[in-house]
Amino acid sequence: MSALILDGTKIAQKIRSEVAAEVKAMATAGVRPGLAVVLVGQNPASEIYVRGKVKACEEVGLYSEKHTPPESATTVELLALIEDLNRRDEIDGILVQLPLPPQVDSKKVLLAVDPAKDVDGFHPMNVGFLSTQRPGLVPCTPAGVIEILKRSHIPIAGREAVVVGRSDIVGKPAAMLLLNANATVTVCHSKTHDLSGVCRRADILVAAIGRAGMITPDFIKPGATVIDVGMNTVTDAAEFQRFFAGNAKREETFRQKGTTLIGDVRPDVAEVAGALTPVPGGVGPLTIAMLMFNTLNAAKMRRGSRVPELTKA
Ligand code: NAP
Repeated sequence: MSALILDGTKIAQKIRSEVAAEVKAMATAGVRPGLAVVLVGQNPASEIYVRGKVKACEEVGLYSEKHTPPESATTVELLALIEDLNRRDEIDGILVQLPLPPQVDSKKVLLAVDPAKDVDGFHPMNVGFLSTQRPGLVPCTPAGVIEILKRSHIPIAGREAVVVGRSDIVGKPAAMLLLNANATVTVCHSKTHDLSGVCRRADILVAAIGRAGMITPDFIKPGATVIDVGMNTVTDAAEFQRFFAGNAKREETFRQKGTTLIGDVRPDVAEVAGALTPVPGGVGPLTIAMLMFNTLNAAKMRRGSRVPELTKA
C-alpha cells in the first residue's frame, strides 16, 4: 500500500486563484486590500519568506508594502511603526516577520497590532475568537492544514485526531481548529508518555515538532491521514542517506545543492498511511495562500462584510 500524496501546491494555487477573483471583484468597488510586512534587520531566511509573501500579494492583486527597520531597532520604534500602520485605513493586514532581534520585546510588539489587522492570527484576541468559535483571523499554517483536509475530502468530524506539538503558532491552533471541526483531539508534546502508542490511535495525525523524520511507520495506524508540518534542513550526507537512500530525484538535488528539506515524518510512513502531505509541496505552500486569504478577510471584516468559510467539512 502506498499513501495518497496530498498535493499542497495544487490546493494553494486554487486558494490563491479564489482570492485573486475576490480581489478583482473588490477592485470594481474601488477597494484594494493591503498588506504591510515588517522585516527587522537582515535575517536571510526571513528575507526569503518576506520576498515570497510580497510576490504572492502581487500575483493575487493585493497592495503590499515592506518596512525594513534596522537590526538596531528598539521596541519603542517598532511600536511607533505598528501604531502608524494600525491608523492607516488602506492597510488591512500587518505582518511582523519573526524572529525579532533580541533587544526587542516581541510579545509587546505583536500585542500592539490591531486584532482586526492581525493576519498572522497571533493576537490573544484572535486566539480567543478561535477558541470560542467566533469570526476572526486564524494562524495561516494551521488554517492551511484544515484546508488540505477539507479540500481532499478527508472527514474530520468524529475522527480521532492527534497533534504532535503545542506551539502557539502551529500545534495549539491546529488542535483547536480540529476540535471546532468536531474531531476528538489529543495534543502531544515532549513530555508525552508512549508517544508512538498515542499517535497510533490517530485517524488524522498532524506532526508539528521540528525534528527531521521523527515520526516513523510504527507511529501510524494503517490508512491514517498524516499531515507533516515540519520543515527541517538536512545537510549531513549520512543523515540524507538514512532518509532518502534509493530516491534518485532527491539524490540528484542533494548532490547539486548539498541540502534538502525533510518534514517531521519519515518518507517510508507512506507505506502505512492512507494519505500524506509531502515535504516540500505539502503544508508549506498553504501558509502563504492562507496569508493572502487572511488579508482579503481582514479587508472584508473591517468593512463589515460577513467572513466566508473557505470550504465546508
Ligand atoms: P516549536 O515552537 O519548536 O514547537 C515544537 C513542539 O514540538 C513543542 O510543543 C515541543 O514540545 C514538541 N516536541 C519537540 N520534541 C518533541 C519530542 N521528542 N516528542 C514530542 N514532542 C516534541 O515549533 P513550531 O514553530 O510549532 O514548528 C514546528 C515545525 O513546523 C518546525 O519544523 C517548523 O519549521 C515547521 N513550520 C512549518 C511551517 C510551514 O509553513 N510549513 C510553518 C510554521 C512552522 P514542548 O512544548 O514540550 O517543548
